Amino acid sequence: MNLDALFASIGAAGWGAADYGALLPHMDQGAREKAEALCPHPATVLVAAFPYYAGDRPGNLSLYARGLDYHLALLQRLEEAAARLRQEDPAGRFVPGADNSPLPEREAAWRAGLGLQGENGLVILPPYGSWVFLGTILTDRTVSNGERAPSSPCLRCGKCVSACPGGALSPGGFRVDRCLSHLTQKKGELPPEEEKLVRAHPLIWGCDRCQTVCPYNAHPLPSPLPEFREELVDSLTSADLAGLTNRQFREQYGRRAFAWRGPAPLRRNLDLRGEKSEKSIDKLF
Ligand code: SF4
Ligand code: SF4
Repeated sequence: MNLDALFASIGAAGWGAADYGALLPHMDQGAREKAEALCPHPATVLVAAFPYYAGDRPGNLSLYARGLDYHLALLQRLEEAAARLRQEDPAGRFVPGADNSPLPEREAAWRAGLGLQGENGLVILPPYGSWVFLGTILTDRTVSNGERAPSSPCLRCGKCVSACPGGALSPGGFRVDRCLSHLTQKKGELPPEEEKLVRAHPLIWGCDRCQTVCPYNAHPLPSPLPEFREELVDSLTSADLAGLTNRQFREQYGRRAFAWRGPAPLRRNLDLRGEKSEKSIDKLF
């Protein structure tokens, strides 16, 4: 089967194949067990990139979270590809995954030579920049990547490291506990130092800073995929969330990537940004 045509037909802007064995040093025991339960005798991770940039409109949600939840969008597209692979090779196993799979997706992409290896830890795929979601198909079939070399490093200009508001990025690595993307999604009350970071941050969900400053993202091509271009929610206000029960919130926003933690972290972040939610106003009286 022509895999270039297959992945293009499901909307991927690029794809590659990584040897499963080469990814093992990047997986803990639990991840290996999960992967091997999903696909006994795994041999190859097919990894595909789907652009999501839809313009940098004002808003308080990270750009990745404004369209349809990428887990849903990618799984549907990858399942289409997996079904066609199964048709071609009924004895083969082809298991789609997007973000919540046990596979180290970025590592797989770089090993497969997909795009560039960003110092911000992201896969950069010109002309879409780093505004791409990664999805995988784990298979017990050996798929060759041709002669493609692993991804080259980015420019290493250091702009992402200097711009990171929490100091999460450094040439030595990444500190998730200082990353605003992680902190805005954290549940419960935040310790004072983390509260301070969230209070000063312009987004109530996620962080795009290490992407917006990256030269590869200066003029990205917009996504051709309707799920990430249409019916966007750019911002949430306290009024949007006021009075919603968890169930009502799920009904209204359940197909959005910012909804998986429920309304509580969004309300807390709005409060920290000085936009009092109904719940915190109630507490004052
Ligand atoms: S997402 Fe934001 S906080 Fe996290 S590494 Fe990038 S710039 Fe730093
Ligand atoms: S900002 Fe510079 S160092 Fe950071 S990912 Fe982009 S090109 Fe690489």
